[in-house]
Amino acid sequence: MKLAVRTVLFFLGFAQFSWGQTSGSANSFSSNSSAFTTSLNSYVVFGASPQQEALVRAQIQIMQPAVLPLRVFFVPHWKYVDNTRIFHLHVPTGYTSAVFTHLPSRTVFIDADRYIDDSLGYWLAHELGHLSTSSPREDDAEKAAHEYRKRLRQARVETRSRVALRFNPGDHAATSGSSATRK
Ligand SMILES: [Zn+2]
Repeated sequence: MKLAVRTVLFFLGFAQFSWGQTSGSANSFSSNSSAFTTSLNSYVVFGASPQQEALVRAQIQIMQPAVLPLRVFFVPHWKYVDNTRIFHLHVPTGYTSAVFTHLPSRTVFIDADRYIDDSLGYWLAHELGHLSTSSPREDDAEKAAHEYRKRLRQARVETRSRVALRFNPGDHAATSGSSATRK
């Protein structure tokens, strides 16, 4: 019994030690939570309006994919079509996807003229599924996407209240001010 307790304590101590090591070497200037945030934002978004970039970043942050893209490109439709040709993307006839991923470069392309705000998260989940499984197969991507879409759904209610808060000037002033006592 005593031995078991000591073993558990040993493992707890070890876990703590290795956790400290990891966060120390990966990030020497801030807390673990902000290190996490930083790594979730370490990709570059090109060609997007501030709103588009904010939307993509918010959704990816919610989904917390195992593998992040390196770049996300918003491109005009003609260029999107051009890219699917250049990257030899096989799009079945009649299939209108507005998002695709070039796996080797971990680059996600979004057809800026065709994507729809409401379904972007759904399709991003699929592309992140390709990235985290490192597989071009659709069923592999969908399997991983299932979990990411669940996180999106779970966050939706939360996000709605947060957005409402953000657009309420009174609340915003209260939360950003130095006095936390005002309600
Ligand atoms: Zn796919």
